[in-house]
Amino acid sequence: MSAAIALAQEGCRVTLIEKRAVLGGRAGSHLDATTGECVDNCQHVLMPCCTNLLDFYRRIGAREKIRFYPEIPFIESEGRVSFLRSCFLPAPLHCTPSFLRLPFLSLRDKWRISLGLVSLLFWREKGIENGSALDWLRARRQSQRSIEDFWQPVLVSALNEGVDKASIRYAAKVFLDAFLSHPRGWWLGIPSVPLSVLYGASLVSTLENHQGQVLLQREVRELAVRNGQIVSAALSQGENVRADAFVLALPWQAAPAVMPEEIRTLTMGASLEKLDPSPITGVHLWFDRVVTNLAFAALPGKQVHWFFNKTRTFDGSSSAASYLQLVTSAARGWMRLTKSQILEIALRELQEVLPEARDARVLKSLVLKEPLATFSPSSENERFRPGPETTMRNLFLAGDWIQTGWPATMEGAVRGGYLAAQAVLRAQGLSRKILVPDLAPSGFMRFLRRPEPPTHQSAIRSGSQFTLP
Ligand SMILES: Cc1cc2nc3c(=O)[nH]c(=O)nc-3n(C[C@H](O)[C@H](O)[C@H](O)COP(=O)(O)OP(=O)(O)OC[C@H]3O[C@@H](n4cnc5c(N)ncnc54)[C@H](O)[C@@H]3O)c2cc1C
Repeated sequence: MSAAIALAQEGCRVTLIEKRAVLGGRAGSHLDATTGECVDNCQHVLMPCCTNLLDFYRRIGAREKIRFYPEIPFIESEGRVSFLRSCFLPAPLHCTPSFLRLPFLSLRDKWRISLGLVSLLFWREKGIENGSALDWLRARRQSQRSIEDFWQPVLVSALNEGVDKASIRYAAKVFLDAFLSHPRGWWLGIPSVPLSVLYGASLVSTLENHQGQVLLQREVRELAVRNGQIVSAALSQGENVRADAFVLALPWQAAPAVMPEEIRTLTMGASLEKLDPSPITGVHLWFDRVVTNLAFAALPGKQVHWFFNKTRTFDGSSSAASYLQLVTSAARGWMRLTKSQILEIALRELQEVLPEARDARVLKSLVLKEPLATFSPSSENERFRPGPETTMRNLFLAGDWIQTGWPATMEGAVRGGYLAAQAVLRAQGLSRKILVPDLAPSGFMRFLRRPEPPTHQSAIRSGSQFTLP
């Protein structure tokens, strides 16, 4: 979608082909037959450091549908609530007072964690690129408790991977880009509409206003090759779409099946199959009464990592007094459980932290297991991610899985699309800057950290200062 919009706005006539009836892909929603509700595949959140994603929302007129929340509530058993928030201190000190007040971490662990965060400030990618976050934390003498109660919960939610598998490169990115560089870099951005609305009509009309079109419910089956380049895409309904350039933006597991044989076997197709997935589970619960007034909360020490109160985050009415969505990331253990076992654990944990939920009646429930939610952000997987260009002059790759420098996120997907768009234009002899700059560090971080150069190309849109929410 991001490649399509960027190229259309650069003057190309674009056809976007989508297999499903709605746009959004993994960040999509569907009308659920059993509950009759429009249900997001899973809660999707972003942060102000997702500068390309916010640029994409601006391009399709959806930016106003993202609401940013300036504090993160943590709820422990019996309902004790504490908050992480920024104060007047300059970055990277802005969260220090609220961090020191978090009751579920001991003073000793706060001291160790602070030392760990300080060494992250001086973290340099060179030399330790291949290690896991856990190796790095152990080498920094982080206690088991600080790993379990702090590093693991933050990283598993941000990266959809545990500290034992997640690369230190991405773990460092989470803390440096989001939490330490800017007092507002970590605010949670939550869509105020279902994902299919966020990515739906406004994207279609933006594309149509630029002479483009969206073809829904059309599956690309094959790309036809003649004289070493792609000439057309064969669709499920028997149509053939001809074009000068093709951007393949399928999920990483689906892409090899559509790739021409010479690309699949000679370049990275085989490697794509080696990308390890990491699952996510979403549990949706509709209650007969209000069970919390919080819009969302992190649940330290629980198997359910977050709840999101859709009755509060969505504009418009809901069919129940409370509609909550519970998220468990890197939920490998849960893939073996039945949906009713998952529901039981999730409800029990929710009732432990929200006393109001104990007497409430569950009107409807839904468990969505996503075994292939994202690829794992491990150092090993990094080797299998290709760039946007292929050995075919007019075939380009996009998606969260190409080399973006980001883990599998909506920001990574938009970066992938923008990189592909730049490559398409470059192949036409046009040097265009589509990627936007990272969020500029503020306070003391201006001296400690320089924005990283973008991966896989050098072009960044100049003069576009990213503005915070
Ligand atoms: C449960 C879950 C929770 C997540 N939470 C977050 C979050 O909170 N924040 C965040 O930033 N990211 C989150 N992510 C990750 C994010 O959703 C993805 O990184 C992002 O959506 C990937 O976008 P993409 O365009 O690369 O791929 P996709 O979204 O997978 O898009 C690929 C598209 O290709 C279509 N397609 C497939 N085959 C064909 C074919 N043959 N012909 C035509 N079309 C085809 C698919 O239908 C799909 O629409 C989450 C993902 C999941 C699954």
